Amino acid sequence: MRVNEAEIVISAVSKTQYPSDPIPEIALAGRSNVGKSSFINTMIQRKNLARTSGKPGKTQTLNFYIINKSFHFVDVPGYGYAKVSKAERTRWGKMMDEYFGEREQLVSAVLVVDLRHEPTDEDCMMYDYFKYHDLPVTIIATKMDKVKKGKRPAQKKLIREVLEVDEKDPLILFSAETSEGKDEAWKSLRSHLKM
Ligand code: GDP
Repeated sequence: MRVNEAEIVISAVSKTQYPSDPIPEIALAGRSNVGKSSFINTMIQRKNLARTSGKPGKTQTLNFYIINKSFHFVDVPGYGYAKVSKAERTRWGKMMDEYFGEREQLVSAVLVVDLRHEPTDEDCMMYDYFKYHDLPVTIIATKMDKVKKGKRPAQKKLIREVLEVDEKDPLILFSAETSEGKDEAWKSLRSHLKM
C-alpha cells in the first residue's frame, strides 16, 4: 500500500467531534508503550505523525487520521498504566463505548501486542471487547527485531493461545525498526477496507 497523504483530522473527546465523512475506519488499540504509534508511523511512512510515548495523565482522546483521502485510522488511547485514577478509567470506558457502540463506518480493529511478552489481562479484555462488537481483528505482535528467530514461533503460539484468537483473525509479526510485517499488515487491513 502506497500512502501518499496522511494527516490528523481531529483529537476527539466526544462523538460530536467525530469526522462526518462516510469513509471506512480502522481502530487501533494497545497497551501504553507497546509500540502502537511506531506501528502507525511505519504503516503510513511518517516519522512522527502519531505521537510516540504518550505520557499518562494527559487528556485521553480518539485521534482520527485520514489516509489517502479514503479511510481513517482511529488511534485509541493506550491502556494499562497502573497509576490511572478510577475517574480516568471510567472516562476512558465511556469514550470507548460511545465510539465502538455506535460508529457505523468502523470496519475492523488492530490490536498491538509485544511479541516478547505474554498478553496481559487487559490485552485479553481489549480483544474480547472487539469481538463483542463483531469486529474482525488484526493482531500485530510488534518488536519482533527483539526476539531471536528461533523463538518467534513459540511466542506467536503463546499469544494466540492466551488471547484465544479467533482462527479467522491473523496474527502478524512486525517491527517498526525494520518494517518487517508491513506488507502483510497492509494486506490484512486492505481486505477489510475492500481496497
Ligand atoms: P506507544 O505508547 O504504544 O505509542 O509506543 P511507542 O510507539 O511510543 O513505542 C514505545 C517504545 O518502543 C519507543 O521507545 C519505541 O522506539 C520502541 N519501539 C516501538 N516499536 C518498536 C519495534 O518494532 N522495535 C523496537 N526495537 N523498538 C520499538
